[in-house]
Amino acid sequence: MGKSKAHTDESLDPEDWEALRRLGLLMVNDMITFLKTVHERPAWQPMPEEIRATFKQPLPVEPQSPNEIYQDFRQYVQPFLKGNTHPRFWGWVEGTGTPFGMLAEMLAAGLNPNVNFGEQSPIYVELQVLDWCKQMLGYPGEASGLIVSGGSEANLVGLAVARNAKANFNVARDGLRGASQRLTLYGSTEMHNSIQKAVELLGLGSESLRRVPVDSGFRIDVEVLKNAIAEDRARGERPFCVVGNAGTVNSGAIDDLQSLADIAQHEGLWFHIDGAFGALAALAPNLRPLLKGMERADSLGFDLHKWMSVPYEAGCVLVRNAEQHHRVFSSSGAYLAHAVRGAAAGPVWFGEYGVQLSRAFKALKIWMLLKEHGVEKYGRVIQQNVDQARYLATLVETAPELELLAPVGLNVVCFRFTDERLDDSQLNDLNQEILMRLHERGIAVPSSTVLQGKYALRVAVTNHRSRRQDFDVLRQEVITQGRSLVQQSDLEDEANRVA
Ligand SMILES: *Cc1c(COP(=O)(O)O)cnc(C)c1O
Repeated sequence: MGKSKAHTDESLDPEDWEALRRLGLLMVNDMITFLKTVHERPAWQPMPEEIRATFKQPLPVEPQSPNEIYQDFRQYVQPFLKGNTHPRFWGWVEGTGTPFGMLAEMLAAGLNPNVNFGEQSPIYVELQVLDWCKQMLGYPGEASGLIVSGGSEANLVGLAVARNAKANFNVARDGLRGASQRLTLYGSTEMHNSIQKAVELLGLGSESLRRVPVDSGFRIDVEVLKNAIAEDRARGERPFCVVGNAGTVNSGAIDDLQSLADIAQHEGLWFHIDGAFGALAALAPNLRPLLKGMERADSLGFDLHKWMSVPYEAGCVLVRNAEQHHRVFSSSGAYLAHAVRGAAAGPVWFGEYGVQLSRAFKALKIWMLLKEHGVEKYGRVIQQNVDQARYLATLVETAPELELLAPVGLNVVCFRFTDERLDDSQLNDLNQEILMRLHERGIAVPSSTVLQGKYALRVAVTNHRSRRQDFDVLRQEVITQGRSLVQQSDLEDEANRVA
């Protein structure tokens, strides 16, 4: 009673290091098994209400044991995923990740460096990775670059540099109040929404983003583009940038990048390319010609967490003119002084090339995975996905009840179940129902889109685990579900008539 306790400092380290070591080894063991057996589980499963309720608990006040927390993870978190590690996941455009990538993430978290600046190995790893990215895509070696969270951030950074470099006033100082003309930029109607988001965030206004129509292959119509630029100029506006798509989300279309580069050059515009997944097709020798002109971009954004299967998150932006890139993000503070020696030295301050100051060691997993597989194998796996997409297209074309809704240029297949007695609106409802059943029954996870008013089941293959049989299963299940829905509606019609 009243006895004063000896002062002991606390830390967040384990009290029992050996117990944590055992738990850690168990976790690694469990997760490797989890990945090895992924094909044995459903592609997706709904989360029961009682599980959802476990995420409504009060803020933890007292410590809990790591073993119990891990059990919570196993029970409540691990089973209820969107499914992107599964061989029959082809929704949106998502990456599969890899087991070695998982281990790389653990190492990065263990080192826990802040890769903003400093004389530290992670800076050199990132510089190495950026050099490799330039080499992979045939981009100029003197370009600057940054590993970012993904394609959206890459587009934001690229367009920020474009805006500041091409405005005829000092945007950094005056903001858009310095503008005497509207700054306009151009891309196709198939552009990803992250471009619009960036345009809005950069204060340019979505009205300044001109959406140029596409041809039958969903590529930007370059003649319409030229006219749009001329019309805007005639109206007194200031065109400053063309955005090219290297792989659209809807259909995988690649714009004629060579023509876009010519137009940008001729008109004095910045040329940005959104190559989120499509840029990586450059690794497959047979696909590389599709990307001709990509090396001429002033800025190029792409993802490593999609077609390179690097665990989330990992994207990259490259900017041809390093000086222009640096100028946009390098406002400094006295607390961030560069030193010539010691921990505050170092070759590059990545915090001066993007939005983030504190940054994760994302470069490590990229460095490790590129070394593990080498680019030739990546090229083969990317080609394999494109071949699988073509295989699925053939399966669709040879099935009378299925209809292909867009040409398959790369790795995206859009199709639907049809029945001649149903109109487009009924088919839209029917295919939407088919999609939800495919998900709910754990069969496969495609996503959807709408092409010319037609609801499409959309399969984007960026999955190194997919095998041809997986596409056979998809075809069969779409037909089975489609037939059963048509039959059901026939029965309902019948019942209504009788009633
Ligand atoms: C995925 C994607 C993006 C956005 O990239 P995130 O990594 O999701 O931020 C941009 N453009 C295209 C074409 C994409 O497929």
